[in-house]
Amino acid sequence: MDLLPLFHNLRGRRCVVVGGGDVALRKLRQLIDAGAAVDVIAPDINAAIREMAEKHTLRYQQRPFAVDDITGAALVVAATNDHSVNEQVSQLAQAANIPVNVVDSPELCTVVFPSIVDRSPVQIAISSGGNAPVLARMLRTRLEGLIPAGYGKLAALAGKYRNKVKTRIDSSLARKAFWEEVFEGDIAEFVYSERLKEAEQRLEQKLKEQQDTNKVGEVYLVGGGPGDPDLLTFRALRLMQKADIVLYDRLVSKEVMALVRRDAELVYVGKTAGDHPVTQENINEKLAEYALQGKRVLRLKGGDPFIFGRGGEEIAHLAERGVPFQVVPGITAASGCASYAGIPLTHRDYAQSVRFITGHLKDHSLDLNWQDLVAPNQTLVFYMGLSGLESICKELIARGKSATTPAALVEKGATARQRVFIGDLTTLPDIVRKAEAKAPTLIIVGDVVKLHDQLAWFKG
Ligand code: SAH
Repeated sequence: MDLLPLFHNLRGRRCVVVGGGDVALRKLRQLIDAGAAVDVIAPDINAAIREMAEKHTLRYQQRPFAVDDITGAALVVAATNDHSVNEQVSQLAQAANIPVNVVDSPELCTVVFPSIVDRSPVQIAISSGGNAPVLARMLRTRLEGLIPAGYGKLAALAGKYRNKVKTRIDSSLARKAFWEEVFEGDIAEFVYSERLKEAEQRLEQKLKEQQDTNKVGEVYLVGGGPGDPDLLTFRALRLMQKADIVLYDRLVSKEVMALVRRDAELVYVGKTAGDHPVTQENINEKLAEYALQGKRVLRLKGGDPFIFGRGGEEIAHLAERGVPFQVVPGITAASGCASYAGIPLTHRDYAQSVRFITGHLKDHSLDLNWQDLVAPNQTLVFYMGLSGLESICKELIARGKSATTPAALVEKGATARQRVFIGDLTTLPDIVRKAEAKAPTLIIVGDVVKLHDQLAWFKG
């Protein structure tokens, strides 16, 4: 970390701004907003600063900077267009151990002004450490759009009730859950729509209800998509940041895992083909147990939990045990890989339907309904098909599919490491073997694969 972000209490404290142009104006507006007593020192000032001086919002001293101007200041800002003056101010301030900011000269600063998203009392400060101010501002714009304007009021409401909630709800875990529900549910909505009285009534009522219940936790069965965290749903992200404990699979990428709440407990329950260190029954049981202890349990899976993910079995067990749960869909590998490989799964000219098929070999044979699979005008998508690729291709040809039917294999689709191999039912197994493709891979068979040449857009 190059810089440590701190929030500075400048209320009533003397701050010195050297310079009187537009650049100085931007900084001194922020200082005044923070309640500082601002001295502006400059031979000349612009109209806006003059007006502020006349209204006694700040004190103006009309003269060049002098050495002892900084004495006793809590913060000094140099914003003149004369580099040597800026440099002198910086050196003097540093010698006196006073924090100093020199506009647009990171090398002369001991503190920098961040981009601010202001929802007082909630504030978000963003800095790129002087490396990319435009990037920091873009991030700020995104956050501005994401965070409701009423956020500050919500924080103020929480501040008002903080002690009361603390005395009424003993357990810190329960208290955290209480506040999270306040911030995400109808109480927050009331605040955002300026219905503050109703918000307070609801909060009081909720506090009462809370005292009577001994809470059971909940399981969130969440699809983490094919790997790129940008492909998560908002809901998935929200629940990922709420969970107390996370049970996750091998297919969940580390980029996605990085978005899980930082202090959540992580439990790996991945299965590798042919080697099952944690059995499915074991996972089902763990999910129920954690939730019955009152925890919010995130069951995070690659892709979509209801597509070759055994999600159905997991929640069936929860239903039996009376554990509440919710399911959040994810982008399944077929959608993710097809999009990122430029292969539409259906197309008016080539395929009117699509099938998702498991290519996993059971006892070394593929027990599939081949007669249906060779029907024309459909796209076949095989999950878990890498080791069975050759058998799949051979079997399709043997049952009547043309040997030149286009086929693709997508390795680590929709991630930065994606590779796409194109061939047909005769050539693909060799192409893939030579390239030493590694799981996870997805096989797409059908005329739609022809479109890849024209539609591939993702460069990885
Ligand atoms: N529930 C998951 C599928 C789990 S089965 C989903 O909806 O996507 C595991 C198989 O999914 C893998 O063997 C592979 O065939 C496929 N798969 C998952 N992620 C993939 C990826 N990023 N690229 C290619 N195939 C993927």
